[in-house]
Amino acid sequence: MNAAINESLIRDVVEEVLGRLGGASLAAGNPTPAQAAPSGGGPEGMPAASGGARGRFGVFQDASEACVAAQEAFEQLSEKGVAGRNKVIQLIKEICHANAAEWGRLELEETRIGRLDHKIEKLKGLRVVPGVEFLNPFGLSGDHGIALEEYAPFGVIGAVTPSTHSIPTMACNVISMAAAGNAAVFNPHPGAAKCAVKAARVFNEAIHRELGIENLACIVETPTLESFRAIAQSEQIRLLCVTGGPGVVKAAMQSGKRAVCAGPGNPPVLVDGTGCLERAAQCVIFGAAYDNNLLCIGEKEVFVLDSVFDRFMAAMEKHGAVRLNEAQVERLTKAAFVFPAGQGAGCPHPVVSRELIGRDPAVLAKVAGANIPSGTQLLFAETSADHLFVDEEQMMPFIPIVRVKSVEQGIAEARKAEHGYRHSAIIHSRDVGHMTEMARALETTLFVKNGASVAGLGNGGEGYPNFSIATTTGEGICNPKTFTRVRRCVMVDNLRIF
Ligand code: NAD
Repeated sequence: MNAAINESLIRDVVEEVLGRLGGASLAAGNPTPAQAAPSGGGPEGMPAASGGARGRFGVFQDASEACVAAQEAFEQLSEKGVAGRNKVIQLIKEICHANAAEWGRLELEETRIGRLDHKIEKLKGLRVVPGVEFLNPFGLSGDHGIALEEYAPFGVIGAVTPSTHSIPTMACNVISMAAAGNAAVFNPHPGAAKCAVKAARVFNEAIHRELGIENLACIVETPTLESFRAIAQSEQIRLLCVTGGPGVVKAAMQSGKRAVCAGPGNPPVLVDGTGCLERAAQCVIFGAAYDNNLLCIGEKEVFVLDSVFDRFMAAMEKHGAVRLNEAQVERLTKAAFVFPAGQGAGCPHPVVSRELIGRDPAVLAKVAGANIPSGTQLLFAETSADHLFVDEEQMMPFIPIVRVKSVEQGIAEARKAEHGYRHSAIIHSRDVGHMTEMARALETTLFVKNGASVAGLGNGGEGYPNFSIATTTGEGICNPKTFTRVRRCVMVDNLRIF
């Protein structure tokens, strides 16, 4: 064990013990709440959380206790008005920015998936996640008076976050949910829970220090399916927001609670040859290599017109991607997909190997038996349209490229590969007719034209980012409005000034 890991472990243990003893913290060199607050209460005389929730700073073993504590925090936030919400958002953004390098490293060490540079970038990029300003009320006036429709909070929201971006998803959710006046309880992915717990504790300590609210963004320290069920069944939870694959989406939708579901994707790309092939290749490499292809919006398979296929493949190589041959693809495929016991290659649903998800291209190349230059960002190869790498959401820095005879065939194959998730798709084209045809056929939540997939979340394109894209339930890229109830206030009178 090296000195840095040793120090980080010791720090975690000390924090844990201090946290249980009454909430002192070593995080980011800030004064501990005990130093900042008069004894027996929150800062500036604010009451701290009641009973058993005191000193937890959002971190709970028991999901039901977390829900009760979050309800109290929601009521406290309501008292703080819009200024309180703005403060929370400012704190989360500043903390994520300041801790991006350390938290990116922690998340990578815990999950062993993705790339450090992009994990850091994702945390720094939260600065532009929208806040309270997103909630413009809708006003009506007429002969009978005025009406105002306001975006009101739900209360406490139960949230589930993925292993692919644990802290960034939680932070985005806290910003959007608190902007709308809500509190939250998180059930993180068990394989990415330690880093999320650490971040949640730092968030809550800062919010407590500034606003006297101790448990606004609660988290279950040891998340399980049971703790998810406890959250989903809690009477305090008014809404669920889940980000993940098909399993959690199904569980949320069967829970009986209203659920915002940011579900799986398998984004196809179509290159029709009417646009710049060099740019298309650069965009595919950037998007598919981002965080080793962990992003749900990331390019997962490419369909290229036969007439430009060879030129596109050459452009991919020119811009640094490494092409695998047939035998190498076969070796990689055998290692990447595991068939449940007793089922052969005809099994409709192989499991994508956790050993290879989000791993570096060098790891994949070794499995494939290929030598690649250091610093290679992406591997690629020609495959058939029905190849497992096309059909399954594989989340690896290897992208299959499929030759198609026509735009119509390309769109049909892209639609098939997308599986009706209605998540994301990309086209490289200068033909507006092709763009419209593909958009209509796939009906995806995000549709990027002539850019990398990440342009859909504001990285190189217009639009705000968020790591929860509510595809299954249709709310789209989550923002503060996603977490509101619309309430109409009507005044009947002769109020018009004209
Ligand atoms: P995952 O589905 O394995 O886990 C996601 C979360 O759901 C985890 O916290 C997990 O513990 C929980 N979970 C899984 N099954 C559950 C069940 N039956 N009941 C309750 N909770 C359950 O996914 P992952 O590997 O962490 O993340 C990758 C998946 O998430 C991909 O499918 C990706 O497309 C999707 N994703 C979607 C978005 C989006 O915004 N639409 C964002 C990120 C990831």
